[in-house]
Amino acid sequence: MEKVIACCGLDCATCDARIATLADDNELRARTAEKWSVQFNAGITTEMINCTGCREAGVKFGHCSQCEIRKCAGSKGYQTCGECEKLENCPTVQMVHQYVPDALGNLQSLN
Ligand code: SF4
Ligand code: SF4
Repeated sequence: MEKVIACCGLDCATCDARIATLADDNELRARTAEKWSVQFNAGITTEMINCTGCREAGVKFGHCSQCEIRKCAGSKGYQTCGECEKLENCPTVQMVHQYVPDALGNLQSLN
């Protein structure tokens, strides 16, 4: 599967919200809402599961539309944090990389 790299380096191609949105799959939306509600200790509903990907045109999942990493990269005119000289020392993007080290590798592979 071709990767769809978000600003932070996550691969949106593997994200269930994006897969459910592109397929308009309400069962996957419901399962994803249930899973993320537990995982992130938040009240996420089936209706909230709509996203075409961080850097793709179209609807964004609520958290991703307000993501500080996405806002920061955008404000600097970057496509992703992979263009930023602070990449390996940035506490903002490390909030993702500490849990998903592959995201850092995805950004490094873009250069
Ligand atoms: S931007 Fe959308 S597709 Fe990418 S990780 Fe966030 S919710 Fe998933
Ligand atoms: S400062 Fe951090 S969050 Fe902002 S673009 Fe650079 S690496 Fe990304």
